[in-house]
Amino acid sequence: MDIRSVCQWRATCRTNYQYATSSLRRSLTSRLGAFVPQPLALIDAVTKYGAVFGGELALSFILRLEPYTPLFLEIFASNYQYERLCETIVDNPSITALIDSHVILNSSLFRALRRLVAQTLAIRLTNGKTIYVHQSYTCSPSAPIARATCTAFSNFVTEYSFGCSHPELTFARRALLSDEEIPHFTPQDSQSLDRLLAHEFSLAISPTAWPEYRRNMDGDTLVSAEECWRHRFLCPKQGRFFGDRGSLVGFFDPLAHYEARCVKDNLPPFGPMVIWRLMTSFDCDDGCEYLDDVLEQGVVSIPVLFKKDPFGELRDCVSDRTLRTSPYYRSFGRPRCLSI
Ligand SMILES: [Zn+2]
Repeated sequence: MDIRSVCQWRATCRTNYQYATSSLRRSLTSRLGAFVPQPLALIDAVTKYGAVFGGELALSFILRLEPYTPLFLEIFASNYQYERLCETIVDNPSITALIDSHVILNSSLFRALRRLVAQTLAIRLTNGKTIYVHQSYTCSPSAPIARATCTAFSNFVTEYSFGCSHPELTFARRALLSDEEIPHFTPQDSQSLDRLLAHEFSLAISPTAWPEYRRNMDGDTLVSAEECWRHRFLCPKQGRFFGDRGSLVGFFDPLAHYEARCVKDNLPPFGPMVIWRLMTSFDCDDGCEYLDDVLEQGVVSIPVLFKKDPFGELRDCVSDRTLRTSPYYRSFGRPRCLSI
């Protein structure tokens, strides 16, 4: 059962709510437990500094696939919290005893601007696993996630919340590739993509690579123009953010006011986030590159501050247009929106 199904099942009754909430929590701690003996200590440290879990671990958590065990753990921190997070992790007694070696990998300015990762602390553990703590090039810990190699890796998990940018594709084992980044892929990126393919993921540059999104052909005749599937938030050129209607965001325990905690502590999907479009060679015929609601032409990502809006309107401060929001923000019987 993937995380979307679990959340729907959780809403059916209180017993299921408690079981599903515990299951979600165990799902995260068991995956982290493959790396460190005390995952709660690591979760506390990551939460304290507003960082997020991403990469294969977040994908594995979203899919809830037991066989998809990450080889390495990726943590993303903002540029101003990164150093303190690294010190806290390395000095944590339960982790220190496991550390075989650790090294800081500096990104070239070119790579930092492309992938939005300024620096990485690689912690090699005696159990053969590796933890990578990435320093975002911006104030948003999520910025490097927006520059992931493909949409299957644009997910986040925190102590309270989780998000998936392209659930329609990810749950169908499909991913749009950031093909313009291929020359800048690291060996770890290539390993992650190989493991995606090994788990029967399909990678493509255009949604029309998959039968459901193919243009309407009658024999050799094109009946209707090719769609970019913008209305389903699948156009690689459109601006996206965690919380739009095409994404999935949720909380481990909504009844325990986890959303309020995220708002208060500036944790995703609130606080310093990012709006982005894929680094892709896809050529959108519908003009998503220059007619987008949230990103101007030529802009591939911008850091933004998401806050709860007491007036219940989601507005874009750049264009001052009301944006379409995720159903999540309009649930619970009263307006729940956030502002940029
Ligand atoms: Zn488009």
